[in-house]
Amino acid sequence: MISQKMLNMTKNNSAIRAMFEEGNRMAVKFGRENVYDFSLGNPNFPAPPQVNEAILDIVQNTDSLVVHGYMSNSGFDSTKKAVADSLNRRFGTSFGPNNILMTVGAAGGLNVVLKSILNPGDEVIAIRPYFVDYRNYVTNYDGTVVEVNAREGDFQIDGDEIERAVTPKTKAIIVNSPNNPTGVVYTEQSIQTLAAVLEKKQKEYGTSIYIVSDEPYRDLVYGQIEVPYLTKYYRNTLVCFSWSKSLSLPGERIGYAVIPSECDDYEALYAACVVATRVSGFINAPSLLQLAVERCVDVETDVSFYDGNRRLLYDSLTSFGYTCVRPDGAFYMWIKTPIEDDRQFCEYAKKYRILAVPGSAFASGGYMRIAYCVSTSMIEKSLPGFEALAKEFGLKEN
Ligand code: PLP
Repeated sequence: MISQKMLNMTKNNSAIRAMFEEGNRMAVKFGRENVYDFSLGNPNFPAPPQVNEAILDIVQNTDSLVVHGYMSNSGFDSTKKAVADSLNRRFGTSFGPNNILMTVGAAGGLNVVLKSILNPGDEVIAIRPYFVDYRNYVTNYDGTVVEVNAREGDFQIDGDEIERAVTPKTKAIIVNSPNNPTGVVYTEQSIQTLAAVLEKKQKEYGTSIYIVSDEPYRDLVYGQIEVPYLTKYYRNTLVCFSWSKSLSLPGERIGYAVIPSECDDYEALYAACVVATRVSGFINAPSLLQLAVERCVDVETDVSFYDGNRRLLYDSLTSFGYTCVRPDGAFYMWIKTPIEDDRQFCEYAKKYRILAVPGSAFASGGYMRIAYCVSTSMIEKSLPGFEALAKEFGLKEN
């Protein structure tokens, strides 16, 4: 008999992946161009040319033993320094290479950080709706997820909810802004409220409570929106960043974690994260990609393509009668389903060959998520289906 933990995870295997597989089956039946698959956050915008240029130059002009060899489990010193310097320039922080750990994407970073801080039975707060795999990542290290709701209406952080949820066993809260699935960016006010609650609770219980800031969408924001840099508001903040979305490199598995010197048990924690990278089997983040992102740390993310999709979808769907959260960041739209049973609604949507992920996959029923990191022409072709669906459910007068 295989591991019970893995049996459970397999049983609850990601609804997003299941939808993606369904999309592939439908593509065989109806033709790829006639299936409107909004299920997966896989960027449909090429990596900027600087990335490929850097890779080519590194492969041609750098010692092959360096490019393809092992290095310190925390990553190349030159890469960690480039990351720290870039963060300091952008956010006025004062990180050094010893505050940076190169990771296998944000998912790798989250696992390394959670492995390093959790003891069995420790609690990790997740704000509903939240990214599906948080529960698995916490379970990997025998922690327990404690769910709290985002504030109703605007999906910002609800300080009272968090205050009620914190116990002496709380080790961390995962914060994800810009948010998957809502597209909401937490305001400075939200972050200040969160920091105040956690400071108070740390004092009350004499414990360390870490914010684990999951930031793969940090650079995907629209208009003048600013994403506060959390280490500046709360000492015990650990950041997990990735280039999967900002440079369209999800398959390359490259990111970093920030472990500030000011956080509790910094030295032990940094050492633990380095060892966690090794004993989790990552050993180190991919070497070629470390050297490539080192040269691209200041490349700006072009969000114009996603912004065009965002406007087209938001304007169209709201005109059809859907209630949507207007996203300020990431590339997801969070839509209220006209019936409470979101899974059933997503089944209905398939009649129009529209694939969306039910909100219950993010621990929040009554909603669905669509990922608009797809081609604009696919969105345009899908709109009559969305409109017909809206009419069918009485969202708009015929
Ligand atoms: N966290 C969130 C909120 C995500 O949406 C994703 C991927 O979609 C990840 C983490 C994992 O990102 P990565 O590809 O960098 O591991």
